[in-house]
Formats: sequence, C-alpha cells, structure tokens
Amino acid sequence: MNFESTIEFEGFDKVLLKALGLKPHYVKFSVLMDKRSDSKLPAVAGIGFDKEKETFIFYRNDEGFNKLSVAERVAVIEHEFLHVMLGHLTTRVSDYTDDEQKEEHVLLNIAMDAAINDFLPDLPNWTVSSKLIQKWVDEANLKICVEAKKEWEYYFLILKQIQQKTGGKGSFSGVQGIDKHDWDSMSEADRQKMEAEVKGALEKLKNSQQWGNIPGEIGLVIDKLLKSVIPWQKELRLFGQNCKSSEKSYTRMRTNRRNPGIWPGQRCEDKANVIVWVDSSGSVPDNLIKKFFNEVAGMAKFANVWIGVHDYNIKTVEKFKKASSYTVLGRGGTSFDECFRFVKDRSFRKQWGKFADGFSGIIMLTDGEAADPKIEDLKIKVLWVLPQNHSAPTKIGKEIFLNERN
Ligand SMILES: [Zn+2]
Repeated sequence: MNFESTIEFEGFDKVLLKALGLKPHYVKFSVLMDKRSDSKLPAVAGIGFDKEKETFIFYRNDEGFNKLSVAERVAVIEHEFLHVMLGHLTTRVSDYTDDEQKEEHVLLNIAMDAAINDFLPDLPNWTVSSKLIQKWVDEANLKICVEAKKEWEYYFLILKQIQQKTGGKGSFSGVQGIDKHDWDSMSEADRQKMEAEVKGALEKLKNSQQWGNIPGEIGLVIDKLLKSVIPWQKELRLFGQNCKSSEKSYTRMRTNRRNPGIWPGQRCEDKANVIVWVDSSGSVPDNLIKKFFNEVAGMAKFANVWIGVHDYNIKTVEKFKKASSYTVLGRGGTSFDECFRFVKDRSFRKQWGKFADGFSGIIMLTDGEAADPKIEDLKIKVLWVLPQNHSAPTKIGKEIFLNERN
C-alpha cells in the first residue's frame, strides 16, 4: 500500500466515523457490514454479501466516492445503512430469472432508493427521490401525486404504472443509481440468517434511547418489520444452521490465520453440539411438543442434538433418538440453573456421562415460569421455545412461540 492510498483509506474511515458520530444509531447496522474498496465498482458505492464470512459488504469506489463533498459522502454512507435498517437486503421479492422479472428488478432498485433518499437531503441532486418520480409521473401524463418518505412498495407500484403507460420506455429507464444493489445472489438460508441479525439490531435500537432520533416514517417501517413473524419451525431450523456455521467459521479461523496448513482443518467435519432442555413441569400442550420434536428430528440430521429433561434439577441427559419418545409430565417446581451450569461447567457435566467438549446452542422448551437463570456471561446461542402468551425468564437469547397454525 503506498502513502497516497493510505490517506484515502483513512479518508473513508474518517467520513464513516463522522457519519456514525452524527447518528450513533447506525453503529448497530454498520457492524453487519464489512467495508471494502473496489476500483471496478460501476457506481460510487454498493452493497453485497460475503458468503464465506456471512456478512454484508459495503463497497465503495474510492475514485468516485472521494470526488463527492464530505456531506455527500456521509449521505452515501447513510444510504447504505438505511438499506440494511429498512430490511431491503433481506426482503426476497422474486428470483428475477426471466426478462420481465429482470425489468421489475430495475424498478425495485429504484423504489428502494427512493424510499431512502428523501431522508438524505445532502445526497447529490441527481439521485432518485420522490420528487424525481413525480417528474417521471408527469412526463408519462399520469395523474398521481407522489408523496415523500414512503415505503419502497409505494414507489414500486407507481413505477409499475409509469412502465405500463410508457410501454417500458419511461424516463426512469437508464437512470443511474448512487449505489449498486448486489444482494440477490444470497441463498435463502443466508437471507434468513441475516434477517434475524438485522431484526436483532432493530430490536436493540427500539429498546435504546437512540430510538427517539429515528424519523417517524422510518420508525413505522421498523415496527412493521419487527412484527412480521417467521414461523417457529423456520426459526428453529435457522437456529440449528447458525450453530453449525459458527462452529465452521471458528475452524476456518484457527486453520488459516496463524499457521496455515499446519492444522489441516481437522475439526471441519465436526457437527455442532446443540442441547435441548425439556422443562418437565412446564405447561406445554402435548400436540405442540410432538410438533416441536419433529422439527428437532430435522435438526438432528446436521447437528449432534442432546436432550435433557429437568424440573428443579436435571433428571436425564441423552443423545436425541427419535421424535416420539418425549413427553412433558407436568409436575411442580422449575429451575433453569442446572441446565446452564451443565453447559458451562465441564466437571459438573461429567456427572451425566461423556459429552462433547462444547455446545454451540441451547434450546429451552419451557413455559418460562421460573426465576431468571442469570446467564449474562454465557457465550452460546440460546433459544427459548415457549407456548404463546408466555415469556422467557431472561432477556438473553431469542424467544420463539409454538402455535397450532404453523
Ligand atoms: Zn441504494
């Protein structure tokens, strides 16, 4: 790296820090994006996805980017953060295989940019906004009054109308975007995983003081995103897959970083170890338990799944066998303390036999009616599986709710 490119890199970093300093609520979304420079990028900036590292990528073309004023650069950075915050990257609309769908894809990209740019008055004036869409509407002789600061779905429908009226030759054809949207190649599993991460960041934002700084229109979109429910089976599968992938990336890091080739990735074939704790005194209806264990059986295909039964203390722990062999008995008195101690404390674990060295996920099937297990220092993913209208005894981990419908 020569001296000049070092300065340029610092230049981007400084602008990034400025953007985060002005609006600290973006920090939660910035960490979901790896920042990279790409001189071949056919736009000022762009967003992609790194499958290996399982992270979004924020690209910029330094040549174009550094030509912008500092205020414009800050706005471009905000533009990319807003794509993440508003769930654009994790919204699957269609697969865009045939030509018609490709055409729609163009509209979708414009609509998503329009839904963001009204909030960013410092962007260069040629970028897409509700005002520009109004101009296209007028040129197509349509009688629509285009409102500002709406969701992308709203602009998408208007663009579709322009397209129909002009036979696809509307003024928007050939429009230049400020950034390249390159997130459609994400697999469904990656998309779901990232959706969970974005939602997690949004939940944190919602519960923080910074929520007060979010423009009302954006707050409404976020509320909608947070309310959209993923069926619990999907969540459970995702949890199993995520446990697996965290194990894998750990292996990759150990192998490559310090001593490449010395440890030939011997742990690569390892399956993740997941433990499911069944609260035998919990009031979970039998039919839901059956459905739950059918899903656990699916998880057992790609993870080592252990089943523990507990009420106040641990009763049994064994390797998961088949879905039909578990029922909840319904006695009194529940505590989660031993369940978490089992995962954390190796010598305690030994009392129940020989177990894998570490667990990468804990699933708690319970109605949650017990004291907070105080697990602040736990470094493992926790999933609380609860009947509806119940809640986990702690804020740590994720809650999903069993229901009849799905
Ligand atoms: Zn964009």
